[in-house]
Amino acid sequence: MPEGDTIFRAARTLHRALSGHVVDRFESVFPALTRVHDDEPITGRTIERVTAAGKHMLMYFSGGHVLRTHMRMSGSWHIYRPGETWQRARRDMRVLVATKEFEAVGFNIPVAEFVRMRDLARHDELRRLGPDLLGDTFDRTETVRRMRERGDAAIGDVLLNQRVMAGVGNVYKSEVLFACGVNPFSRTGDLSDRQLECLVDTARRFLQANVTEKLAPMTTYAGYRRTTRRDDPAERLWVYGRARKGCRRCGGAIQVKASGSDARLTYWCPTCQPSAGD
Ligand SMILES: [Zn+2]
Repeated sequence: MPEGDTIFRAARTLHRALSGHVVDRFESVFPALTRVHDDEPITGRTIERVTAAGKHMLMYFSGGHVLRTHMRMSGSWHIYRPGETWQRARRDMRVLVATKEFEAVGFNIPVAEFVRMRDLARHDELRRLGPDLLGDTFDRTETVRRMRERGDAAIGDVLLNQRVMAGVGNVYKSEVLFACGVNPFSRTGDLSDRQLECLVDTARRFLQANVTEKLAPMTTYAGYRRTTRRDDPAERLWVYGRARKGCRRCGGAIQVKASGSDARLTYWCPTCQPSAGD
């Protein structure tokens, strides 16, 4: 699952390349999108801005149309110069928005729809999003309140719940829990306010650190993410992807466990992140 910072960076890259420019070409394999395009052509409209809301990408067109896409596990947006070779197969293209200068291509995007701007605030999925960890304003008290509402759920699941806070994906889940010394399977209700606040603040700090990093101008999906402040690519993360390797703090073996219907992997150090009974 892409993390909030990935979507944020992709939106920013698309915004820089496209906003203020006129759509020269629009294509999609989604009948619902092409139907809108047939009735009220997207071609000829100006792209006003591109923003991220949690893991949703919103592309605003003049005339009040907003293209909402959600990447889920597999989707990504790329940006190319016209004629440049795509890094993915043509058959993986789901949406294409081109100006004279750039082609924005959405690959394997599972969710895409046009929403009228006036309906956006009432949109079901957007309305339900918790406070956005990358938002300009962020309500920590409200976030902790939403965590407390899910006292019986494991804290690892609560961090991933976009209705509690928007932006944490699977990589940051493990990293944030490690940084705060919290066991991923702890019951949320058993954690102190200080622990919950540590998780929220750390999630926000990790996500923000990774959107301010410089990124290559044409890359929307750099996979460049770190939480350890180290430059060596092999040392960028504390626990994620490090099963059976030595913990960077205590030297013990990092554990991994798959859970949920999509077998998400959770990484943790049982010594640095003891469960309540230990
Ligand atoms: Zn450890």
